[in-house]
Amino acid sequence: MTRTSRRPISVTRRALLRTAGLASVSGLVMLPGAATNYPNPSAGTGIVGRVIDLATIQPVAGALVQVDPAGVTSTSDQAGSFRLSLPPGTYTVRVSRDGYVGASRLGQVVPATGFLPLELDLVPARPTATEQAALYPRLIKQHQAPLPAPQSLTSPALRLASSGLPQYIVVYYDQANPPYQVSVPLEDYVKGVLPNEVFPSWPASTLQAQAVASRTYGVASFLANGYVYPDTRSQVYDPSNRSATTDAAVDATAGQVMTANGSVIYAFFFAQCNGVTTRNSENAITLIGGCPGQGFSYTSYCRARPCARNQPYPSGCLEYHGHGVGLCQWGAYGQGNVGASYRDILNSYYTGISITGGCAGSTLASATNEGSVASNQTGSFHVYLPIVANKGCL
Ligand SMILES: [Zn+2]
Repeated sequence: MTRTSRRPISVTRRALLRTAGLASVSGLVMLPGAATNYPNPSAGTGIVGRVIDLATIQPVAGALVQVDPAGVTSTSDQAGSFRLSLPPGTYTVRVSRDGYVGASRLGQVVPATGFLPLELDLVPARPTATEQAALYPRLIKQHQAPLPAPQSLTSPALRLASSGLPQYIVVYYDQANPPYQVSVPLEDYVKGVLPNEVFPSWPASTLQAQAVASRTYGVASFLANGYVYPDTRSQVYDPSNRSATTDAAVDATAGQVMTANGSVIYAFFFAQCNGVTTRNSENAITLIGGCPGQGFSYTSYCRARPCARNQPYPSGCLEYHGHGVGLCQWGAYGQGNVGASYRDILNSYYTGISITGGCAGSTLASATNEGSVASNQTGSFHVYLPIVANKGCL
């Protein structure tokens, strides 16, 4: 008997037992050889894991782990461990503790047998400078918004007046096998981007400024190209990993984008400047062919602006970390720390812009469409999705 043939046979035995009404725990244990062929019924299904402090990589005791929609909770022990018994299914796992930013993991699948292993990271709400330095490479998946093909900057599709703000962003997983596209509600897209760009412990106004910048950049990329990539070619998008503070920043600025001369802008951003000024777009540090290759298209809303950096680590080319164009993230952090609003921050980095949109009480953020269709005789299928322009909100 080969290893691969064991499992199907045990399933068959189990099915026979169920048919005979003998599928009790004692019945299984009584069967000769059952111990090696059957999963231990008392083991059950659920989630087992550990909560760690992402700055120190030490276990966090006393963290509350909550699983929805089951509404089941557990508290991590001294080793940071937790264990939750749950029926097979798909869940959202939330973790919280005083002194940390709450975090969520969406779409966690408990298998039909056994436990899903899950490590939950918590970010300190008030990290020290040393902790911020340790956190940076663990949190930040992308340190600049990429400079696109110059013709994208002037695409007529960026003029929102004729179409309104898109409700969905098409994310193109071109490197999957086979490649596929997913339509993601705009606000969900921004919530899946933001934790990869900024610290969830940063001031609310800084997070809100980055939310508007990332929403604007995503909308511009989508309108100009018809899709965005889920990685650093556009913005890193992870639908499963959320933090409470970045979600709140997205909600607080829902539907808001930056425009200039009636078109949505490419809201470039980068990690840090030299502590004096951001760069004119035509003087961008492109990093092509080594450091420092320079140059990008003239962009009216990306002019060199004064900025003071606040960063815990040495900088890169010409003392810049990133291309130097648009919003300086560590500068935005510094401004948030001294009470600047997100509008102040955005207006300090982008020249001649308007912040438009925002639909208080609208259903923009919660719009979802789920369902299924059957393929026809030729294997084809067709799905109709609503396209709703939010002209009234702009
Ligand atoms: Zn700066």
